[in-house]
Amino acid sequence: MSEHSKIEWTDATWNPVRGCAKISPGCKHCYAEAFAERFRGVPGHPYEWGFELRLVPEKLSEPFRWSSPKTVFVNSMSDLFQKEIPVDYIADVARVMLQAPWHTFQVLTKRSERLRDLLQGPLGFAARAPHIWWGVSVEDKRYGVPRIDHLRSAPASVRFLSIEPLLEDIGPIDLTEIHWVIVGGESGHGARKMARAWVESMRRQCDAHGVPFFFKQWGGVQKSKNGRELNNRTYDDMPSRTPAPMPDRARRLELIAGIEALASRWQRSPLVRLSNRPAA
Ligand code: SF4
Repeated sequence: MSEHSKIEWTDATWNPVRGCAKISPGCKHCYAEAFAERFRGVPGHPYEWGFELRLVPEKLSEPFRWSSPKTVFVNSMSDLFQKEIPVDYIADVARVMLQAPWHTFQVLTKRSERLRDLLQGPLGFAARAPHIWWGVSVEDKRYGVPRIDHLRSAPASVRFLSIEPLLEDIGPIDLTEIHWVIVGGESGHGARKMARAWVESMRRQCDAHGVPFFFKQWGGVQKSKNGRELNNRTYDDMPSRTPAPMPDRARRLELIAGIEALASRWQRSPLVRLSNRPAA
C-alpha cells in the first residue's frame, strides 16, 4: 500500500491482497476494516469494494520498484493465509520476497495453521530465507496462544509474535525458537485497556529467554497521549538483519518483467475481477 509506514516496527507496507474477514477477538476493532470501509463505493479507489477480499496482482512487482532497501510489513490490510486465497497466489507473493533479499519482509497472520501447513509444503522453497520473517498475532489465551505452537512447527529462520492488541494476561508462554516479540495495546475508538502488569510479564519472559522485545504502544482512544515508554524508556529491539546488496536498476527491471508475466495469469481470477461487479 505504501512505501512509507507509520507503524513503529516497519518501514513500508505492501498489500498484494486487500480485504479480510474477522476470526478472533483481536479483530474486533480492525483498523484495516475501518480504513477500507470508509472508501466503499468510491469509484476507482483501491478500497472501492471496502474490506471484501481481493487479489491485487498489479502490486506483486512493487518491492522491485522501491528505490531503497526496506523492512516491509506484508499485507497490513489483509491476511495472506485466508483460506480463499489460492496457494499458487501465495507462492507468487513468496517468489517476489525470495527474489528481493535486499528488503526484509515481515509476514504476519492469524491463520497460523495454514501458515504452518504451507511452509511445511508448497511454500517450503521460501520458508527458511533469512530475510523473510514469519509471525503470528497473539491477543489472548484462547485464540492467540495456540498460534505460537503452529508457528514453532513451521520451518523458518525468523519467527515472531505480534502480541497486539494484548487483551489479557496471557501468562507464561513457550518462547523456544521464537526470535522476536512485539507487544502493544489497542488504539482508537472503543480501545480495550491493557494493564501494565501484562506487558511487564512479557518483557520479563523475553529478557529471561534472550528474545528481542519491541514495545509498540500503550494505545488508548488517543494513543499519542499515552506514548510508548515503559519503565521510562522505549524498547525497540529487533532481530539482526544482514540484507543483500540492492541490484542495479537494469536487474530490477528484469525482475519486474518476470513477475509481471506471473501477475498476468491472475487477471481472470474471480478474486481480481470483483472490481467489475456493480457496487453493493
Ligand atoms: S485478521 Fe487482521 S486484517 Fe483480518 S480482520 Fe482480523 S485484524 Fe483485520
